[in-house]
Amino acid sequence: MINMAKPQIGPEEKQAVLEVLDSGILAQGPRVKAFEEAFASMCGVGYAVATTSGTTALHVALLAHGIGPGDEVITSPFTFIASANSVLYTGARPVFVDIDPKTFNIDPAKIEAAVTAKTRAIMPVHLFGLCSDMDAILEIAQKHHLLVIEDACQSHGAVYKGKKAGSFGTGAFSLYPTKNITSGEGGMITTSDAGFADECKVIRQHGMRVRYYHDELGYNFRMTDIQAAIGLEQLKKLEKFNQKRQANATLLSGALKGVQVPTIPEGYEHVFHQYTVRVDGNKRDALRKHLQERGVGSEVYYPVPVHKQNYYVKNLGYDGSFPESEKAAAEVLSLPVHPGLSSAELATVAAAVNEFMAG
Ligand SMILES: *Cc1c(COP(=O)(O)O)cnc(C)c1O
Repeated sequence: MINMAKPQIGPEEKQAVLEVLDSGILAQGPRVKAFEEAFASMCGVGYAVATTSGTTALHVALLAHGIGPGDEVITSPFTFIASANSVLYTGARPVFVDIDPKTFNIDPAKIEAAVTAKTRAIMPVHLFGLCSDMDAILEIAQKHHLLVIEDACQSHGAVYKGKKAGSFGTGAFSLYPTKNITSGEGGMITTSDAGFADECKVIRQHGMRVRYYHDELGYNFRMTDIQAAIGLEQLKKLEKFNQKRQANATLLSGALKGVQVPTIPEGYEHVFHQYTVRVDGNKRDALRKHLQERGVGSEVYYPVPVHKQNYYVKNLGYDGSFPESEKAAAEVLSLPVHPGLSSAELATVAAAVNEFMAG
């Protein structure tokens, strides 16, 4: 079976973990600090704050900006549930804006109509490894005095007009095993605001600035040094991993017939967290079944847009319609693109798709 993801763990990660185990410092310690510094440097920002997951990175980022009950955060409905759930955790309400069907990212032309007196932030999701249209988003944010919190959980190292994902305001990354780099589980907040980074660290550690004095409500969202040791080694390989993903994507786009291959707009560097094609809605599930029979993994990211999820409809009363997101949910199929694939495996993926689409 050609799998959708395969964490690339080498002798460096194994050695680094053993060193932590021998060091006696297992919880948050010097390796977390080193990982934060290296991650900030990769993004071109001043500070990074490690957490337990991408979800908690988003949650802490929202809290540290003071977002809570009564506030609204504009985001995409075509994303993993964590983008919107992190807003719910704070007591604020996610407000959805439909996507651009070519990029799968939030359509800036539709954002202003969703801005109200309650809007505090825009949370663009850089889906599949492609940045959102940040110039347009930053212009709207500036005009309406809104924060920009990037859900960069799928876009480690992605570039928009010379700047890295996570460097446009506040960034949040995931280090889950299927992401472009991993620490097992883990998350990272990026910012160039020292005061904001400090507030994130306080919330991460039970609202504590002075040991056992608690001025606000916080959480235990600390990363362990074991995770950070893995993450540090992975970060050194990120550029190489992303180059391999890009080369794999170029190969697939050159070979595939009968499906709509991913768009890379001018000035963007796509890091292909997922390689996602569009297939006629009536054929998508049959193609997936055909690939399965040929030993080729594939996945639908995501079959149900957030505004159509049961919890959002039944418990939160969402009844909006976002036709581009709904159409994408019916047509998308992600194919294997991870850096562990051989050229023979990529050829098998392309041949299996082409065989079905020609038939
Ligand atoms: C993975 C992901 C998250 C959440 O990250 P976890 O580490 O799994 O908590 C949030 N948003 C998007 C777009 C993601 O892909």
